[in-house]
Amino acid sequence: MTKQTRRDFLKRLSHMAGSAAALSILPSCNSVGQTGKTDRPNIIYIMSDDHASHAMSCYGSKINKTPNLDRIANGGMRFTNSFCTNSICAPCRAVVLTGKYSHINGKIDNSRKAFDGEQQTFPKLLQKAGYQTAMIGKWHLRSDPTGFDYWNVLPGQGSYYNPVMIEMGENKKYTGYVTDIITDHALKWLKGRDPNKPFCLMYHHKAPHRNWQPGPKYLTMYDDVTMPEPDNLFDDYTNRGRAAKEQDMTIAKTMNDSDLKLTAPRNLTPEQKKLWDAAYNPKNEAFKKANIQGKELVRWKYQRYIKDYLRCIASVDDNVGRVLDYLDESGLAKNTIIAYTSDQGFYLGDHGWFDKRFMYEESLRMPLVVRYPKEIKPGSVSDDIVLNLDFAATFLDYAGVPVPDDIQGESMRAVLRGKTPKSWRTSMYYHYYEYPAVHSVKRHYGVRTQRYKLIHFYNDIDEWELYDLKKDPREMKNVLNDPAYANIVTELTAELKRLRKKYKDTTGTPV
Ligand code: CA
Repeated sequence: MTKQTRRDFLKRLSHMAGSAAALSILPSCNSVGQTGKTDRPNIIYIMSDDHASHAMSCYGSKINKTPNLDRIANGGMRFTNSFCTNSICAPCRAVVLTGKYSHINGKIDNSRKAFDGEQQTFPKLLQKAGYQTAMIGKWHLRSDPTGFDYWNVLPGQGSYYNPVMIEMGENKKYTGYVTDIITDHALKWLKGRDPNKPFCLMYHHKAPHRNWQPGPKYLTMYDDVTMPEPDNLFDDYTNRGRAAKEQDMTIAKTMNDSDLKLTAPRNLTPEQKKLWDAAYNPKNEAFKKANIQGKELVRWKYQRYIKDYLRCIASVDDNVGRVLDYLDESGLAKNTIIAYTSDQGFYLGDHGWFDKRFMYEESLRMPLVVRYPKEIKPGSVSDDIVLNLDFAATFLDYAGVPVPDDIQGESMRAVLRGKTPKSWRTSMYYHYYEYPAVHSVKRHYGVRTQRYKLIHFYNDIDEWELYDLKKDPREMKNVLNDPAYANIVTELTAELKRLRKKYKDTTGTPV
């Protein structure tokens, strides 16, 4: 409706009796309108895989710099207590999409059945509300993506080099490095989309997932430095139970030759292989000649692991920078919510480990920085407990779409505005299922508050652990049987029971 016809329409209406009822048929001025342009914000949800917050400079990393990820933090809010509800790849993704716990959305672990794509997800609801939706990069849910106008995803874990991607059901092979290629696709989609519709882009990196293959640009980065070791690299798990002792995810014993780059990837082009060999062969020859053993060998493995992990992150940071630059150049930055997170945290030699799964801090915590100039104060920090469960409700809220009652997460919008509601959660519920399986982390559920964490490893063993995170942030001592904490144990047990009821979790041994 043009301005003139709208005026004529209003004029005619003013002559009509009972015009209040007639007014309700007027097209709303602030919804889509004739041009389709709206004030509804665009959403770019960036998720990497296994990127721990202690490998981001805005979180005080002692081992690397992430200038582009820090741009998001500096322009918006950084969360210090952002957690996942089940610390493993595919289940985390299902929680993000549905806003529901694993026992409700059905994707409880990586290995069993595929994600049921028939169910409600937030991209589907946004799509229905007129958003243009896209999913580009790592998907890992086995079923095809649903709720997206465009999708282009890696099959399963995908390859770091020369990956195949599945574009709307069609397999295509690319030459190059996966982090660059995923970004190329994301930028291509952003530039080619319908500019008259708001959009939601899920831009998901494979990096820095195991086995941490760096891109050609960063193969020798950090060669001239020695990374500081975590203080508990040689943790012997005294003062803790069988779960920590019986896992299979140590740098010392679990890492293989391909993780440690003692063998080269098999799918490199001759040019890529030349660069790879030039970077690794001299270091590997020196290592073999030195014939180191015991703690020195673990130290060497840690250095090799952490440097490759951080090299992968350097490419993620560069590529996120390309997207941020495009948003600035195109003027989209002003009306675009941009979030950077990872599907969960990771052990960077902490407790002698790599991998995730446990409810302990390093893998429970997700990095989360969110920028939206219209509502979020630059450089702000929140200590509130937020979850991957909350993304669906948050994005629907920003888009003006009613949040369905069956979504279990909460909108973080007020928290992001710096106005946390008094009723905001003060505890979170966690449940991990993948056992028996790779890495041998026993099934457990638990509750975490700002200060304490109670965990129940309920199958195979029946053991409880309590940590006082204020006195023991590294979780080196289970204080469950310390009489000084008897009241805390009682309180947290009741809270755990309450949360299991609230979220309708009847899986696992009752509390
Ligand atoms: Ca992951």
